[in-house]
Amino acid sequence: MKATRNTVQRELILNTVRSMTSHPSAEEVYDSVAIKDCHISKGTVYRNLALLSDMGEIRKIPMPGTSPDRYDFNLSPHYHAICRKCGKIVDVYTDLDEKNILLYSNFKVENVDIVVSGLCEDCIE
Ligand SMILES: [Zn+2]
Ligand SMILES: [Zn+2]
Repeated sequence: MKATRNTVQRELILNTVRSMTSHPSAEEVYDSVAIKDCHISKGTVYRNLALLSDMGEIRKIPMPGTSPDRYDFNLSPHYHAICRKCGKIVDVYTDLDEKNILLYSNFKVENVDIVVSGLCEDCIE
């Protein structure tokens, strides 16, 4: 298959997300991609991030409140903890049975995304 400008850009965006362990926002992905391709537009990066998460290549992490969504290359099952002091997002794991969370309601659970807030190890004093 001939690599078009579109697929080249998508590959670049995907590889950039895969190189970032910080759970970047779309803005941060754009900043990083723009270093390698100064002609790429913000719209292209945002559009491809949405497309790549729809394709299941990366994972979108919806943030609470008005904080921008973050992106994660790590597709293994895990949750996220956000530090209220420095804003860092770290991976957290739990043996919680998600299906039991809403056991007492009539809600059919299709997806569970837990964001824990608190202080990261650098900010605990
Ligand atoms: Zn912190
Ligand atoms: Zn993660």
